[in-house]
Amino acid sequence: MMETKIRERQYIINTYNRRPDFTLHIKRGEGVYVWDEKGNRYLDFVTGLAVNNLGHCHPAVVAAICNQAKKLMHTSNLYYTEPQVKLAELLVQHTPADKVFFCNSGAEANEAAIKLARKLGKKRRGEQAHAVITAENSFHGRTLATITATGQPKYRKGFEPLMPGFRYGRFNDLESFAGLVDDETCAVMVEPVQGEGGVYPATAGFLQGLRQLCDEHGLLLIFDEVQCGMGRSGKLLAGQVYGVEPDLFTLAKALGGGLPIGALGAKGEAADVLVPGDHASTFGGNPVTCAAAVAVMETLLESGFLSRVEKMGEYLADKLRQMGTAVPGIREVRGLGLMMGVEIEGDAAAAAAGCQEKGLLINAIGGRTLRLLPPLTVEEEHIDAAVQVIQDVLKS
Ligand SMILES: *Cc1c(COP(=O)(O)O)cnc(C)c1O
Repeated sequence: MMETKIRERQYIINTYNRRPDFTLHIKRGEGVYVWDEKGNRYLDFVTGLAVNNLGHCHPAVVAAICNQAKKLMHTSNLYYTEPQVKLAELLVQHTPADKVFFCNSGAEANEAAIKLARKLGKKRRGEQAHAVITAENSFHGRTLATITATGQPKYRKGFEPLMPGFRYGRFNDLESFAGLVDDETCAVMVEPVQGEGGVYPATAGFLQGLRQLCDEHGLLLIFDEVQCGMGRSGKLLAGQVYGVEPDLFTLAKALGGGLPIGALGAKGEAADVLVPGDHASTFGGNPVTCAAAVAVMETLLESGFLSRVEKMGEYLADKLRQMGTAVPGIREVRGLGLMMGVEIEGDAAAAAAGCQEKGLLINAIGGRTLRLLPPLTVEEEHIDAAVQVIQDVLKS
């Protein structure tokens, strides 16, 4: 059989720009490590893009998947299944949501949020109210509505005409958002920590101000927690770090512990806006993905787990800041919890490649920023090792 890397070029549409000379072929993962096809071990600070928050193949998640797969894998939403209801119950108990809707990805969860916001907006503010204000530099997904919600032109180029009804404010600039509110507005949607845009945490004043702005005008406040949610901030949801409750929030990435699942959480009046026939998803709330997500939730909610994430986040931030003063060419260290960005003067992709050669997987975004997304189970020794590698690479 020909090598995977060669066959990939022939059979897979080239949207990811994988390079046979550089891109790893990963065979196995366990905890904070993955192994490539040659048996080389790597410390994984990419975690499948903030998906494997409990590390690779966490035993509780593996057991939940195997047990459920043996019993029932799929029914559609024509029927009741227990894992789906159990997951919804856990989410409602531990987040601002009163009810949830399940789907399969972050983009799909955001689509559901946008549909719900339009429907409630029309009811509250009149037929013309349909527009969502999002932030410049944001990322909300790759469907037509969510690339339009995404405040980065590069994701939209070539796919026009775009979905009408999006306006863009400057992130962390409340005045700029306030200035965009008019009769057509139905909601404001932001990431509490911008992820793909370069790891920019919101300020508390900004999120609190958005809450007030939305209340004044009868708008829905939507938090896209797809990347910063599920414990990464040190709280279950990043919004909880700021003490701000949205009307809607979306989850995906880490929710399924490695299986694809998305969720929309809705609070108060918003929880009863969508009615039978309004929205659906064939795989949404699938028993296997929900069983995995229940195991993820139960692990995150174990006593001491999230406070440990907060501590590890502080430890990582301290280490990176120390490195920032010791190594020239580091412009900024920023982030929240175990979601950190290191902005450098040089080429971040080249630095990430250097780290990979030294056994650390790390992600480069936006040309100049190294993004660190370690598993939430990371220990001090792993952080020490990772920061040492980054420092060695940046020094050379
Ligand atoms: C990854 C991401 C999405 C899109 O999620 P998919 O599962 O890839 O559709 C949406 N919002 C944010 C903040 C993300 O990081």
